[in-house]
Amino acid sequence: MTGHKNKGFVYLVGAGPGRADLITVRGADVLKAADCVIYDKLANPALLKFARPDAEVIHVPKRTGGASVTQEEINKLLVEKASAGQTVVRLKGGDPCIFGRAGEELAVLNEADIGFEIVPGVTAGIAVSAYAGILLTDRDYSSEVVFVTGREAPGKKESSIDWDLLARFSGTIVFYMGVGNLANIAERLMQNGMSSNTPAALIADATFPTQKVAKATLGDISGKCKQEEIEPPAIIIIGAAADSNEELNWFMQQPLFGKNIVITRDAAGNADFAAKIIRRGGNPIEFATIKIKSLTQTNEFLRALSQIAEYDWIIFTSGNGVALFFETLQSLGRDARVFGSAKIGAIGSQTAAKLARFGIKSDFVPSVFTSKELGRQLISCTNLRSKKVLLLRSKLASSELVELLNEAEAEVQDVAVYTVAEEKSESSRLVEGISKGTIDWVTFASPSSANVFFEQIGSDLVNSGDVKVASVGPVTSERLKTLRVRVDVTATNHTIDGLLDAIEKTCK
Ligand code: SAH
Repeated sequence: MTGHKNKGFVYLVGAGPGRADLITVRGADVLKAADCVIYDKLANPALLKFARPDAEVIHVPKRTGGASVTQEEINKLLVEKASAGQTVVRLKGGDPCIFGRAGEELAVLNEADIGFEIVPGVTAGIAVSAYAGILLTDRDYSSEVVFVTGREAPGKKESSIDWDLLARFSGTIVFYMGVGNLANIAERLMQNGMSSNTPAALIADATFPTQKVAKATLGDISGKCKQEEIEPPAIIIIGAAADSNEELNWFMQQPLFGKNIVITRDAAGNADFAAKIIRRGGNPIEFATIKIKSLTQTNEFLRALSQIAEYDWIIFTSGNGVALFFETLQSLGRDARVFGSAKIGAIGSQTAAKLARFGIKSDFVPSVFTSKELGRQLISCTNLRSKKVLLLRSKLASSELVELLNEAEAEVQDVAVYTVAEEKSESSRLVEGISKGTIDWVTFASPSSANVFFEQIGSDLVNSGDVKVASVGPVTSERLKTLRVRVDVTATNHTIDGLLDAIEKTCK
């Protein structure tokens, strides 16, 4: 590799067609190592979570009308960053070499003697096949497939597409970039002899919760596209494959598919919640209402930590508490052995799961995930008299659990690991969505979230609209009622998954 001394390296990476987890393992790996990431409009920005926090991130959406100039700028940028010795990831939607102008970028790299690797990606034409159940090469009706651009380079006088050949093609035709030109595409195929009854399908926003599919004959597809307000990015499929069996459209048949669900936790909690919604086909709308603030530097906490092995029971009531506790422990150079022989209790399967990640098996998890039940059930299964119990939880937690444990004559110490501060989010778009009826659900995972949310958004708006309200449990529902909010669903299993199960039940 002599010619590349002192030079950086460029990875041309396919980001996949949309949802962030459809990138390849190799793509994610090189993204993790990059000094500089240059990404396109169609590459999902959520992929940037793989990049190092100190990586330089450059967004290069192509301007309509000025595409060629922008491409030159991108080419220059690639050479400039790599020549400065950086490892550059050039992240492109789908596969980098399918209608991705990879040729131009590779040519400048070659000219500048900069090393490169091409990491393939799942191209949109293939992804729509999987995510709409439109099988491009089913042996019963198609043994050929062709990818065609629906928009030729601006300024080209002669079409380089062989319309005569396409019109006679008996396999599946997949058009990229064709929505704006759909009427013309259909017209040219029919002029060249393709039947107006040939099945056609449009798939927009493939793999996203906003995915749309429209099907019609070749003669009607352009009208259908307007009627259904299909917008780019979309793939057009023409041929027998387009007349697919609706039962194969697994993605859009998921119970939460197409549901716009507002989530109101803290940023990290929302990220976790959003991933769960996406996994069930729904569309999360993040609206953070709270911030978690660590209290692990307080004397009270540090004192409890230094004496922790002396407790009989240590009780965690949330994943946040567990995460902050172990973060502090690690920063002090210690580990789970500090618990000694103390028994560990956890409210909720998620809290228990988080503890398990640090090697701790909870000795007690109540069957119903509330503080009250934890107290009741713990008291009924063990004698807590004169036992030292340490509660590690939010400063804002209710006193109910302490009172119950006191009644059982336990020696309780209630130590705050964190507190919850208000977070304001931009609310005008949410208000508009609720007023227009485009939001299906607003969810609450804690009373604090409910408080802050309704400080910004009127309960009347929510009560009178089509939007439904879901709550994680009785304590949150009580608070919502106090705030005069109609609660449509309260989860029976008081976890985020339980909340989504409860919503799913109403959608069936
Ligand atoms: N290199 C990309 C294609 C770039 S051309 C790839 O391999 O997928 C851009 C075109 O890709 C869009 O006009 C559209 O036709 C298609 N496309 C990209 N993402 C899409 C998506 N999520 N759903 C439908 N079509 C998509």
